[in-house]
Amino acid sequence: MNKDRIELDGAEGGGQILRSALSLSMISGQPLRIINIRGRRSRPGLLRQHLTAVRAAAEICGATVEGAELGSRSLTFRPGAILGGDYRFAIGSAGSAVLVLQTLLPALLFADAPSSLAISGGTHNPLAPPADFIERTWLPLLRRMGARVDFELLRHGFMPAGGGELVVRVLPSELQPLHLMVAGAERSRSARALLTGVPGHVAERELERVRRHRGWSAANTKVVRLPEDQGPGNALLLDIECEHLTLVFCAFGQPGVSAERVAGQALQQADAWRTSGTAVDEHLADQLLLPIALAGGGSFTTPLLSDHLRSNRAVIEAFLPVRIDCQAHSAGGQHIRITPV
Ligand code: ATP
Repeated sequence: MNKDRIELDGAEGGGQILRSALSLSMISGQPLRIINIRGRRSRPGLLRQHLTAVRAAAEICGATVEGAELGSRSLTFRPGAILGGDYRFAIGSAGSAVLVLQTLLPALLFADAPSSLAISGGTHNPLAPPADFIERTWLPLLRRMGARVDFELLRHGFMPAGGGELVVRVLPSELQPLHLMVAGAERSRSARALLTGVPGHVAERELERVRRHRGWSAANTKVVRLPEDQGPGNALLLDIECEHLTLVFCAFGQPGVSAERVAGQALQQADAWRTSGTAVDEHLADQLLLPIALAGGGSFTTPLLSDHLRSNRAVIEAFLPVRIDCQAHSAGGQHIRITPV
């Protein structure tokens, strides 16, 4: 691969532009310069979660970095070789440990030796994949592509307290293409209400609202009480297990929002995906692009072209010799195809 410096403008997107660019710079060996990081966000620049991803990426590949400070809006990253090893990183806030993991894990698949990676911070954050989504949706698909990865959630961390911890063990692996055009026959539905430091009736009411919803009366439902020191927090997780993948949908309890409304939010996401007839929901779509591009090809259907999907496509095409085509699918939604060029 050529080693020309890749220049990106982060103004039109969020932290994902930075995280994907870090993963790809590490893997391709191409230096990176990124300006206007999270340019239009209310608190632009590097927050703790992003800064942890930068520092961790630099440690794993011995990169030289300029601009790695809280609030920094530009960054230069010159990577070295990716080294397997035992790594431990702390975000130091409730920022998402899952998003930091998603930055580092692809690179560790390309390391020279096995790795273990422990990250502390938030594991169940609004606007980020919950740890359950990584465990039951994203990682099983990466394993199907050839990734040799174990995952363990040691402690839950919710906003604003944080304090969660997750661990992955990664063996160097070769990724194979993935094609996911349909989800396949539905096998089961289940709902879990996680709860700590919040009255128990909240979880019961969330699950009752789920059981009353069309298609969910036969679902397995469970209240999961977590130790007090992992809270306070409440999350409702809905799993739909199909022949070719399991999708996890999530909504969080918040002060002033009724349990029924929280459940309604998760159900709405699940319904939006199921009625679209596509294989991959909106969130999984932008998170599958990078591993599929690293595998050199693949395809899937998804309900819509989200902003995350568009901006991630641009970052990936800047680094890798692949083309990502998005076309309206005859059966509805979008057909995404990643092909080598
Ligand atoms: P920002 O810069 O926008 O403040 P950020 O660095 O936290 O934020 P984003 O760039 O917005 O992150 O990326 C968030 C990622 O989390 C995206 O990949 C998105 O698909 C994913 N995500 C958000 N909500 C969910 C969810 N409920 N389930 C799974 N994934 C989710």
